[in-house]
Order: sequence, then C-alpha cells, then structure tokens
Amino acid sequence: QGISGIDYEAELNAQQYAVVRSKPGPALVIAGAGSGKTRTLTHRVAWLLDQGEDPGKILLLTFTNKAAREMIERVEQLIPSDVSALWSGTFHSIGNRILRRHAEDLGYTRSFSILDRDDQKAMMKQVIKELPLDTGGAASKRFPKVDVLISIFSLSENTCESIDDVVEYQFPQVARWIEEIKSVHRSYQARKKQNNSMDFDDLLVQTLKLLQQHDDLRSLYQRKFRHVLVDEYQDTNRVQCDLIDLLVGDRQCLMVVGDDAQSIYSWRGADMDNILSFHKKYPDAEVFKIETNYRSVPEVLELSNAAIRPNRVQYEKELRAVRDGGAMVPALVPLDDPSFQAEFVAERIEELIGEGLEPSDIAVLYRAHYQSMEIQMELTRRKVPFQITSGLRFFEQAHIKDVSALIRLVVNPRDEVSFKRVALMLPGVGDKTADNLWRAWSACELGQGISVPESFSPIMLTFRVPAKAKDSWQQLCYTLDELVVDGGFARPSDMLFSILEGVYDDYMRASFDNYEHRKQDIEQLMEYGEGFDDVLEFLAQLSLMSSVDGDPQKNQRKEDDESVMLSSIHQAKGLEWKVVFLVWLADGMFPNGRVLETGDEQMFEEERRLFYVAVTRAKDQLYLTYPMTNPKSYTGEYMMRPSRFLDAIPDEMTEEWKVSSW
Ligand code: ATP
Ligand code: MG
Repeated sequence: QGISGIDYEAELNAQQYAVVRSKPGPALVIAGAGSGKTRTLTHRVAWLLDQGEDPGKILLLTFTNKAAREMIERVEQLIPSDVSALWSGTFHSIGNRILRRHAEDLGYTRSFSILDRDDQKAMMKQVIKELPLDTGGAASKRFPKVDVLISIFSLSENTCESIDDVVEYQFPQVARWIEEIKSVHRSYQARKKQNNSMDFDDLLVQTLKLLQQHDDLRSLYQRKFRHVLVDEYQDTNRVQCDLIDLLVGDRQCLMVVGDDAQSIYSWRGADMDNILSFHKKYPDAEVFKIETNYRSVPEVLELSNAAIRPNRVQYEKELRAVRDGGAMVPALVPLDDPSFQAEFVAERIEELIGEGLEPSDIAVLYRAHYQSMEIQMELTRRKVPFQITSGLRFFEQAHIKDVSALIRLVVNPRDEVSFKRVALMLPGVGDKTADNLWRAWSACELGQGISVPESFSPIMLTFRVPAKAKDSWQQLCYTLDELVVDGGFARPSDMLFSILEGVYDDYMRASFDNYEHRKQDIEQLMEYGEGFDDVLEFLAQLSLMSSVDGDPQKNQRKEDDESVMLSSIHQAKGLEWKVVFLVWLADGMFPNGRVLETGDEQMFEEERRLFYVAVTRAKDQLYLTYPMTNPKSYTGEYMMRPSRFLDAIPDEMTEEWKVSSW
C-alpha cells in the first residue's frame, strides 16, 4: 500500500500484483483476453507514481486515442495527484508531439500540416498528373489506383521494406509498373517536404529518423522517459517497435503487455514476432503470465478457448474463468437471410433493453463495415440509439475539412492541399485555376512559408482570379488576415468564429442542403476548440482523431452511454460489453472470401485470431448469428454455409436458437 491508499492486493490478483510491483527493467506480460492486462498496466502507472516517480518521466503507449484517454482517467481516479505531465497516447500522437518540438532538425517547420487519407490522395493525384509517366493509352486504365499506391507506400514505411519487395511479395499484380511506382513515390516524398506536410506514416517514420540521426535528442528522450509502457504490443509494427527500442535505450525500462492470439493488424504491417521474440531482444526480460479471466462467464470463455485452439502459431496459455457459471450458453442463431438477421438482432436488443440493460451494454460486431447496413436500418426504424465506428467520421466531413483547411493554410502557407481546397471553394474556380493560383502563391514570399505572416491580403489581392470569384476572394483575404493577431495566431475558437462569419457561413448556405446541421457541427467544433490555446495542438488533434485507429467516439452525437455500439471487430479490440452479437458468421464473409481463395495459412490464422477477439469481447451473453441465404450476394452465391470457425466449437458449447421467418 502506497501513499495514495490504493490497496493493490485487493484490486489485483497475485500474478497481476507481481507485475505491478516488479523491479524496473524489461518486462513482458503475455496473457489471454480479459485477463486484466490493461488494468494491470494502469495500476503499474499508479504504482510508479505512488513510489514517488515523476509523472513526466512516464510514457504510456496505447493503440487508440480512446484507450489512452480511458487509461489516464483510470489513473486519475486511482491517484489524487496531477498526472498531466505524463505522456500518453497512440504512437502517432506521441510522434507528433516529439516532431512538433524538433521539426526544424528534419527540414520542416513546427507548423507542418498532417495529411489525412483524402489529402494524401489529392497530393498523389497531383504528383501523378505532373510526372512524365508513360501511363497513356489503354494501359493507363490499369495503372495502379491511388489507393493501391498509398497501401504500397504505407506498408513499405511501416515494415521498413523496400518498395521493390513490397510490390514483389504483396502486390505482384502491379509489378509491371514498378519503375513508375517508385518514381511516384520519390515525387510524393519530395512534395510532402516542399509542402511542409507529413502523412500519418511520417509521424512514425520521421520521429524514428529524428532520433536515429540526432544523438543528443535521442539521449534527451531516453533520459526523459524512465518508464515506457505499451499496451496491445502484439500489434506493433516494425517502425513502432524500433521507436520503442530507441526511446528505451540501454536502461531498458520497458513494460509491454499483449496477447499474440489477438494480433490482427498484419495487413497494416504489424508483426506478431515482436511479441513472440521479445526475449531475444531483451534477454533479461522478466516474463509474466496471467492465467485468469475476469471478463467473461465460463460459458463464453470455454467457447473462446475452443475457438483459438486450432491455430498453430501461438504462445501456450490457458485461461481459467474467475466468474461463476450458470449463465446463458452462447446462442448460435441461423437466420433465413440478412434482413431476418437484422430483425432478430434488433428485436433481441429491444428485449434486452426492456429487461433493464443499458444500450451501451450491447455491441454488434462484424468483419466488415458493409455488413452493418441492414442492422443500421433496422435499429433506426425501431428508434434504438446506436453509434457506429465507421463511415464518415465527424472530422472527415467536407465542412469540417473546409474550415480546417483554412486554418491550416494560415498556419502552414506551404500546404498545397489546403490551399487548393480553399481555392476550389470560390465560385468559378476549377482545378486549372486552382493550379495557377497555387503556382503564383508558392512563388511569392508568403507561399514560401515565412513563419507567421503578418498579412495575407496585400499579396493575395494581386493574383488574378476569375471575375465571378472577385468578391469572395477579397473576403477570403480579409478573413485570413483576421486569423493572425500581433504576429501570432489567434486562438482556435476565435479563428473558427472569424472563418464562419467572414466566409464560411455564406459558403455553407449556398453549397449544402443540410446547412443547419452543418452549422451546428462547426459550432460544436468551436466548443471543442475552446479547450485549446495553441492552434497547432488543435489541428494536430483534429488530424489524429480522424486517424487510422478508428476511434469509436468521434462521429456520434449522442452520449457514449446511451447507445448500442456497432463496430468492426478490428475497432473493438480491448473493449468489452455485457452482450455481444457477432453477425454474418458465414463462410466467405467471416472468414473473408479472399482469404479462403488464396489458401494462405497465415492469413487464415489471422482471421481466426479476429474471431477470437470478437468472442472474447462478451462478458455475459454472446450471440453468433448467420444468414443461411444471401439474395443480394455479388458473387452470385445464394446459399450460405456457417463459418468454418464454428467447426472448432463443440456442439455442447452453444445452444442453437431456431428463429425462422416470423
Ligand atoms: P484484452 O486482451 O481484451 O485487451 P485485458 O487483458 O486488457 O483484455 P482488461 O480489459 O484489463 O483485460 O480486463 C478485463 C475485465 O476484467 C475488466 O472489466 C477489468 O476491470 C476486469 N478485471 C481484471 N482484473 C481484475 C481483478 N483482479 N479484479 C477484478 N476485476 C478485474
Ligand atoms: Mg486490454
């Protein structure tokens, strides 16, 4: 017991407690789902603080922004002291934080822009347009799409493999374009730098580069972080893993927790070898196991254990249930077709809520986002509140991106993507005029990105714009000027106010039919902006929230605790609900048809791990449903067969529910 009064022994079991009070040094906790890894990590942080450790010396890395927030909130509940100096967040957010301090060392300014996927695409298209690529004629149709290029580049960055290798092994279908692909890559890299912009991968790669190249900075951060803690370590990729190693340095005060059976991000370069061979890199590592499961009733846990057992590549571990038996046996529910499946799920959800469950106790999980469509419609029809982790997220919507482009342009005048987005908002300005304006802009002093421009209008007003755009252009120039105050940037919420009043309100009214709705969004954004003094921090936060990690909170209007969660399994990692519905459990849907076609054993095992992640989210009740037919199948396959994952589950572990056409 420390000064905080936390009774660690009451809060934790012996295995968990051993982890929490272990001596500093490399430590690996490898344990199954629901065994309290995340809880243990949180208590470890509390314990360090309890021992008098300075919060500023602790770095806590997690997989999603939401998880990071929750862990910090939990620590704050445990410990009454101020933990704001503690660094916690996703790899991307920590990378961003480091880069904002030292971007100059890499030839960027601190106000660099962060490109999200749409921005990346826009830039990539521009680059392709300008390159003298021989992609003409009939062949041009087959030149890889921008999405494919982004995937290739991203995989190469995250795995530290060459473009040649990535294309050869993972994208052989585009191998004939290898020279052109590399040339696009070179130009894309150069263009980002010219534009003082980084994409998400850069937030990792450039941080790594910074620390590799600058000994002084490396030792600065190694000295700063006396403790590095990482959750969900099984899903780290090469760059993330290297980054951890660099930050940890010789002191080796690293604690990682994870479950190899839940490694599900190899398609994004994650490498479960990082966890399986941890002891090779850190031979002195203490390895801890936790063998009890606190989350699920034994009925669910048994099924989970059976589900993962056939996988060959895994660390030996068995989970015992702590909770009492006698709960509902997991339901296996075949349904006539996808609409019946949706009806069943929605009706059962209504019943459960009628019995007193909160909507937020319930989740519907699926392999792919499109599989949620019928269920969304059915829940909407029945007025059951739900939130969903897919689709256009709040920060990715056009109007939100428009206003952030305006701010970004002021902060980083070299940001081509934002400049063009802004230019295209003007009447009579199309791609060509936008290109011309950009050329004029990037050639002038302001376009070179002097740190904080005093005034935009004198220069911008000399540019030639179409007659139709004259008034709006003038208005825009004056508005941009308002965003700069006394040689510094205005506060984020003031910027948004000026933008709305100056140009954007009119634009919104003229351009969108749901004006009211969008205006509310901007006002909500303004409120959010109130929490920031520094516009750079505000912008980074916006970008990071729309980042790849799929943060479930961001696109809902309702409060978290009032709605049913609809989520892909990938984005449900680490979370738990009393009741879980796993839908579309049919062969070709889950496991995914493409994986079955390739016959690739590793990919198949990853699908099975995904299945394991799904079933282990349930605390009390688990429903496994599948449609027996799929009338709208695009492959033309009408009959559906239950998922082969179910073959591994003994009959007595599920109870078949017969609910056909009512
Ligand atoms: P996952 O692999 O899914 O990320 P995990 O190992 O991180 O799971 P947690 O989410 O930390 O597991 O814990 C699962 C649940 O069990 C949580 O509700 C947690 O509060 C509870 N729990 C864990 N350990 C204990 C304990 N010693 N006493 C009481 N409850 C516990
Ligand atoms: Mg966890």
